[in-house]
Amino acid sequence: MIYLDNSATTRPFDSVIKAVSDNMASNFGNASSLHRMGVNAELILKDAKKAILDKLSLDGDIIFTSGATESSNTVLSGVPKAYRHNGKRIVTTSFEHPSVENPLRKLEEAGYETVRVSPPGRDEPQDFEQRIIDAVDDSTLLVSVMWVNNETGFIADLSKIYTAVKRKNPKTIVHCDAVQGFCKQPAKLLKADLVSLSAHKIHGPKGIGALYCAKGVRFEPLVYGGGQQKNLRSGTEPVDLIAGFAEAVRSYPDCTRKYGELNEKLAGMLTQFDGVVINSYGNSKNILNFSVRGVRSEIMLHFLEEREIYVSSGSACSKGKTSGVLAQFGVSDKDADCAVRVSFSPFTEESDIEALAEGIADGIKRFRR
Ligand code: PLP
Repeated sequence: MIYLDNSATTRPFDSVIKAVSDNMASNFGNASSLHRMGVNAELILKDAKKAILDKLSLDGDIIFTSGATESSNTVLSGVPKAYRHNGKRIVTTSFEHPSVENPLRKLEEAGYETVRVSPPGRDEPQDFEQRIIDAVDDSTLLVSVMWVNNETGFIADLSKIYTAVKRKNPKTIVHCDAVQGFCKQPAKLLKADLVSLSAHKIHGPKGIGALYCAKGVRFEPLVYGGGQQKNLRSGTEPVDLIAGFAEAVRSYPDCTRKYGELNEKLAGMLTQFDGVVINSYGNSKNILNFSVRGVRSEIMLHFLEEREIYVSSGSACSKGKTSGVLAQFGVSDKDADCAVRVSFSPFTEESDIEALAEGIADGIKRFRR
């Protein structure tokens, strides 16, 4: 099996499976309990927070959630309530994940003004961050910009955005959906007040995520209940999943060089084929989006699947529906219909890329019209 759909989700590391099952078996206490079992569970939470903060290279706190969708919903519901008097303008991008885009639409219905900044063209990467910064004014409550786009891999310079936004309006809160960049991009490139993270994109378990929160930054909770996690996210903490999340964070190797080489090799092979165009630019090297003209995405996806090669036809969240994100990156509707997204993991080998390129070549021969 050649699994090249790691932006959708990943195979849990063996050590993650072990950490989850060991904790389910022997460390099943409730972190709120006062006895030793509770204290042991509490220690797992503390250790996991430290692992995540160390990887982010940020000071502050970690709130565990059910995933990045919940983390981002918490921000977009809770920040406007906590900072009611800071204005009603929100600056974001035109290519956010639905877990940010859809809560933003709800805010618009409630009277918030949203400015969506489009990505840069292929040849003008510098102007994107500047357009975000230009859009911030005295009434800007929130800036929400994803770190790495899940469909094309485009990387935003969050460090530049954060620094300039705070200089322009220190009251503006900066949020980042860092799901696709975490553990894959250098931490020093990420600065934000609030950061959404997910474990299952880094070989951790599904159903567990985190919200990083910088010191002094506030939000109203999304979930009310027993007051766990300083009353910011009620509900008994899933200690086993959290242990698995921490294990994934600690185990994810530095693949910068590996991903760079795999990306270059794949792009090199694909561009030898007639009618194959690369849609990604300014991208994280673990993600490559391309269009095989004359062969619809689903046809290619299922053809490759017969060879046990798994890729995506775009964003896994859109389930075959065109999300509109590729259009934002200048991809025509026709090319978007033929788009394939490949995403690597630490397990990906050069031979996997060769098998994929061979599969694409055969798919072209068989289906192109
Ligand atoms: N943000 C991005 C960029 C994603 O790719 C995804 C997953 O598809 C999410 C958010 C949602 O993450 P989760 O599945 O943890 O809710």
